Amino acid sequence: MARKRALKQFTDKDLLEEIARRHADKHFREGMTMSEIELSVEELKAGTGEPSIALMLSRMKPEKPTAKACPRCGKRIPVKVRDRERTVKSLAGPVTFKRNYHYCEKCQYGFYPVDRLLDLPEEGELTSEMEKRVLDFAVNDVYGECAARWSLHYREPLSENQFRRVAERVGGQCEAADQGRLQEALKARPAPAEVLVVEVDGSQLPIRGAEPWKEAKVGVLYHHDSAANRPIPKSARYVAVVNGLGEFAPVLEEALEVENIDDVPKVVWVGDGAACNWSLADQLAPDAVQILDWHHAVEHGVDCAKVLLGEEDPLLPLWQRRVEELLAAGDPEATISEVMDCVPEIRRGRGQREALEAVEDLVRYYRTNANRMKYRLYWEDGLPIGSGTVESAHRHVLQTRMKRAGQRWALPKARKMARLRAAYRTAGPRGFHQAIRRAHWDTIRARLRPRGRRQHFRYARYGTRDMDRCAAASN
Ligand SMILES: [Zn+2]
Repeated sequence: MARKRALKQFTDKDLLEEIARRHADKHFREGMTMSEIELSVEELKAGTGEPSIALMLSRMKPEKPTAKACPRCGKRIPVKVRDRERTVKSLAGPVTFKRNYHYCEKCQYGFYPVDRLLDLPEEGELTSEMEKRVLDFAVNDVYGECAARWSLHYREPLSENQFRRVAERVGGQCEAADQGRLQEALKARPAPAEVLVVEVDGSQLPIRGAEPWKEAKVGVLYHHDSAANRPIPKSARYVAVVNGLGEFAPVLEEALEVENIDDVPKVVWVGDGAACNWSLADQLAPDAVQILDWHHAVEHGVDCAKVLLGEEDPLLPLWQRRVEELLAAGDPEATISEVMDCVPEIRRGRGQREALEAVEDLVRYYRTNANRMKYRLYWEDGLPIGSGTVESAHRHVLQTRMKRAGQRWALPKARKMARLRAAYRTAGPRGFHQAIRRAHWDTIRARLRPRGRRQHFRYARYGTRDMDRCAAASN
């Protein structure tokens, strides 16, 4: 009779086969559907998770109660509280462990070295792997839907609030991080583009409270292939800020710095006619070629014609074609003089004043922007003449998540979500959570690890007040 073998003598394959056999003996029944079989095997897999994680953690060297370096200042700080318990939800179920707490008086900063070692989020009840997945749901859907959809994918249900809290926590890290570090973490600093295009635009988000709408500023930077006259795929970097130009400008400037704006031979700034847009361009990219968005230029011409001829006039398409022809020829003065030729045709009587004002407005608009309307030249140089990229960015960065039917955001939450969405669109779903965490930690350790970058930001010389005044004037 064969002697009974010790468990250790079995190979992994033997053991797994034995587990599978026992599971089948216990759970298989005739007539099972494939789904039933799959789900039953999922249960089997889940059962091994918790003990495996506990066992792996138990293999860690016991934590010595010695002083540990403060992540902020590097000074060694003794233990303040020993063996504090923490429970987190992992992919394999809840995990509880103990670790020591340190508190640096000088930095007023508390830390758990074991949490750092395990790369756990400092707060909350989820591991990083869980937080990453929760955040992916939270930035893509309303929280109620997140909870419902989550339960389809994972065994352990999560509440709506858990999605909300993760979005707020990580969104807060996104806001508080050094924005240059964040940009570099989201998308590595590239070689300077041959042509770097900047587009900036504002759109309104629904906000709770007295002021029902608040402007969100979105900026897109991308590398442009002028030979083919098209954007270089995957080169886009997005920034989005709810709270005025004063806060938007430095965030955009950090992104420009990470794009090595000082070493880019040609920067192109495309915008609608908003004056603020150009003053921002003057400050952040003084050497940029400024281009008035083609469609805005044409639209202004057509708007004027609507006043002169009437909204439904059959001549409007003809007028539009003429405006396009003249603008495409690249001589704004020619366009202006043709518009002026209409003045004697304006009849006395009702509507005369409006008509004259419309012409005057259009002439002023074209004169102010004349240097930004040399479309023939831009076309020959293979430069973009439309701000369609930022207009579509409003939709795919912000509105798809933040402008759903019935949605109203509390302002602080809207601000965080806008930052998260821009980060998400820049880094993509795979890298996005990790990038924010890295920037967050690099910001905490900023004093220990200074960043090599230019010290003189243009924006810093101008200060935020001018930008805010400019924003107020344009609203
Ligand atoms: Zn410290």
